[in-house]
Amino acid sequence: MGSFSREQRTEPEPKVVKTDAEWREQLSPQEYQVLRQAGTERPFTGEYTDSRTVGVYRCRACGAELFRSETKFESHCGWPSFFTPLAGDTVIERVDNSLGMRRVEVLCAACHSHLGHVFEGEGYGTPTDLRYCINSISLTLSPDSEATS
Ligand SMILES: [Zn+2]
Repeated sequence: MGSFSREQRTEPEPKVVKTDAEWREQLSPQEYQVLRQAGTERPFTGEYTDSRTVGVYRCRACGAELFRSETKFESHCGWPSFFTPLAGDTVIERVDNSLGMRRVEVLCAACHSHLGHVFEGEGYGTPTDLRYCINSISLTLSPDSEATS
């Protein structure tokens, strides 16, 4: 008999379902390790840590739109940080107490790939006081078209 945390919510079924072998074939070993095995890239090494390019950040595994550049802020933590996802249902927040501390894992709602973690109440002065700390390698930035001026 497992015990449920009171914050545990039912997670939506993934829309994108692939076998482990298919993910391994599609993703690089580094991408696979983070996205499918909940790894963490080393801080200050990701390509989007300091990116200011205007656009939308998509899931690198399935292409779902996850975050907008307007919600990215400088946290100096070594990973891209956002104060909100694109919409409430684009990501899944899963409470993880496994390491003897409470952490909240962030997953892509469409394919359930690991993105990073979300932290709250750190005092960054953002509208939500949340920090979605996301691995660069879990994201692909699609810059906005310059035609929409
Ligand atoms: Zn995805």
